[in-house]
Amino acid sequence: MTTRDLSTIRRIIIHCSDSEFGTAAMIDEWHRQRGFTRIGYHYVILNGVTVKGAPYDPKLDGVVQQGRKLSEVGAHVAGHNSDSVGICLIGRRHFTGNQLLKSLPDLLCSLKDLPSISGWQNVYGHYELDHNKSCPNLDMNAVRRMIAV
Ligand SMILES: [Zn+2]
Repeated sequence: MTTRDLSTIRRIIIHCSDSEFGTAAMIDEWHRQRGFTRIGYHYVILNGVTVKGAPYDPKLDGVVQQGRKLSEVGAHVAGHNSDSVGICLIGRRHFTGNQLLKSLPDLLCSLKDLPSISGWQNVYGHYELDHNKSCPNLDMNAVRRMIAV
């Protein structure tokens, strides 16, 4: 895995898992099966359903799990990996209040301390950088407005 200086990070890119369940460990498996060294994202935000068919566990809703270290270049968006952080929300089209209103804003706030992240305009949805994608199936203007509050 390529390492980098944190001062080179200029964007934060939001993704979804396109699954109704999952964890960082599960995505690690999926990405290894696709030939990645390991999970391509830096963070995963759980929705409370860890495996297919499992009951919703409120204790796991909104939990943030670490994937790659920030100092490691991710593998989550074509052409923009070297200068970005990848965050994956578990979910397909519906996300929980804990994910969207609590954990994501808290995580973004903590990343704002990165030297080259100047503001919320540096937060993108995957589809904004790859027009063939709809990921993360969220209106990013609404997300940016929400986190700017
Ligand atoms: Zn994506």
